[in-house]
Amino acid sequence: MGLDFQIDVNAKFRGAMLGGAVGDALGAPVEGHPMEKVRSVYSRGWEMIHGRYTDDTEMMIGIAESLIANKGFNGADMALKFIRNYNVKRGYGPGTKEVLRRIREGESWAEASEKLFGGKGSYGNGAAMRIAPVGLFYFDTTDMLWEIAYKTSNITHSHELGKAGAALQALAVALAVRGQKEDMLLKLKEVAKTDMYKGKVGKIKALLDESATEKMVISELGNGVAAFESVPTAIYSFLRAGNFKDSVTYAVSLGGDTDTIGAMTGAISGAYYGEAAIPKAWVERLEDGEKGRGYIVKLADDLCQVKLQLLQGRY
Ligand SMILES: [Mg+2]
Repeated sequence: MGLDFQIDVNAKFRGAMLGGAVGDALGAPVEGHPMEKVRSVYSRGWEMIHGRYTDDTEMMIGIAESLIANKGFNGADMALKFIRNYNVKRGYGPGTKEVLRRIREGESWAEASEKLFGGKGSYGNGAAMRIAPVGLFYFDTTDMLWEIAYKTSNITHSHELGKAGAALQALAVALAVRGQKEDMLLKLKEVAKTDMYKGKVGKIKALLDESATEKMVISELGNGVAAFESVPTAIYSFLRAGNFKDSVTYAVSLGGDTDTIGAMTGAISGAYYGEAAIPKAWVERLEDGEKGRGYIVKLADDLCQVKLQLLQGRY
């Protein structure tokens, strides 16, 4: 493994983690608003408004912390990291709030999420929005990536469509690290096990081929809080654009669950283009407190370091 490869991979890890946080913070001020309202808020250009990230990034941080500390997946520890980092002001969804409360009160991390929604579990995008570190850490092994993405997701989201969406998002990040943009859809379709996601991958391809309008994208792929209404939209936003900024501003401009679709698009794009492709003004405006941008960069570096050492057989 050459030094160039290591430097390149490190820049991609930073790109994915910072890119996710930046996309989250850019979408946060317009979360839940329709496309027209987003346009008016950002009518003077795409400037970062307050630079504060939301639950998406806070949970992404927890996943990275846990993968680093355990040199891989440890569910009990990951659940604990989610609970320790939990800040109600970050805008957590009701399902995740409930699961974390149950685990804090002693329920098993492996089962608490399965009791939600009458025993069906959640198919919200809360597992996909935070999954980037899994895509990074298992970028070279699709089988492991898939398995760990499911396990990570199941802590809070046990519905098949919630987990499958998160696994697809993780694989998109991994393919981006590998530089596979051209054949991304082919690879995603190969592993998509549910009809829902197979269908969505087909729709992404069709929309790319016909240079679709925003309205078509919203109606075919969605911009909502369900994993299947937002993960495909993020993948599409990455694929249609030629650079980081265009992909993320497009994702946020669609309205709806803008922080999450922004975060997921930013993670894929950042993993593909690397840290240097993220607009500097956005990074500089990103919050930099205890677990702000400096900490996120350090996590990306540590995650990369652990991964490279595992690849070299040092552990
Ligand atoms: Mg959020």
